Amino acid sequence: MTDQLTVSNHSRDIAGFTYVYPVISRRANGMSIGINLNPNNACNWRCIYCQVPDLVRGSAPAINLKQLSKELHSLLDDVLHGDFYDRYGVPEQRRLIRDIAVSGNGEPTSAQAFEAVIELLGDILNKTVLSEKVNVVLITNGSLIHQAHVQKGLVKLSELDGQIWFKLDRVTRNGVQQINNAAYSPQRIKQNLEIATKHCKVWIQTSLFALDGKPPSEQEWQAYVDFLNTFQNQPQHDQLCGVLLYGLARPSMQVEAPRLQPLSEQTMQQYADSIRHLGYQVKVSI
Ligand code: SF4
Repeated sequence: MTDQLTVSNHSRDIAGFTYVYPVISRRANGMSIGINLNPNNACNWRCIYCQVPDLVRGSAPAINLKQLSKELHSLLDDVLHGDFYDRYGVPEQRRLIRDIAVSGNGEPTSAQAFEAVIELLGDILNKTVLSEKVNVVLITNGSLIHQAHVQKGLVKLSELDGQIWFKLDRVTRNGVQQINNAAYSPQRIKQNLEIATKHCKVWIQTSLFALDGKPPSEQEWQAYVDFLNTFQNQPQHDQLCGVLLYGLARPSMQVEAPRLQPLSEQTMQQYADSIRHLGYQVKVSI
């Protein structure tokens, strides 16, 4: 039986590669090619809703750029000239490469080769005949953006007209500690978001759920709304496209999993409306 790629099947080894994996993506309404820079399942954070199994603290390993290039060429060739879509039973309406998403089973910007990876993607995209515009998207927790090697990569990403999806679940020290298990100050969050928006268009990604039966406290939510509101006064605020609001689409692989519950659609929409009220675009995925 052939594997079928569906919105719920995000298996990163379905094509048998180390770095490159295809996803028929609900969010992209088509195919997204993922670049996993953390095949070692290492992240500098440990979000309690993280879907990465056997997650460990740490950084991305050294990246074998030749292998990454070979894998991406091979997948593109299969998709564009082979029988990839038929083999995996991809529905007709989703037979379109929408984006290349640099993400990972961990934080992709922790890869020291981050700049070289973005450069490589640009080279391959420039040399590949595609019928549609393929966006390059960096999916990041944003916490390393102040580092020089990351900013060099962001310069390359901006040359590709790439986007950044910047994780922002909470904006208080306690909230970030509780949800992301990270020591990350509100000042650093603001600084890193400013740096991101100086380089590229940015979507904020926020996960909302109940913890031990309770939604985010009013105080936490107000701090989040205030943060977004204040950011409207930044010179580069028009680089901020909006907010992607996520529920618990896939099960957490962390020990806290039994303590997490999804919020109702109505509650998610209420949160979305309070962000829209500030003038931001909001997309909700439950
Ligand atoms: S930042 Fe992403 S990969 Fe890292 S722990 Fe959080 S959800 Fe998992």
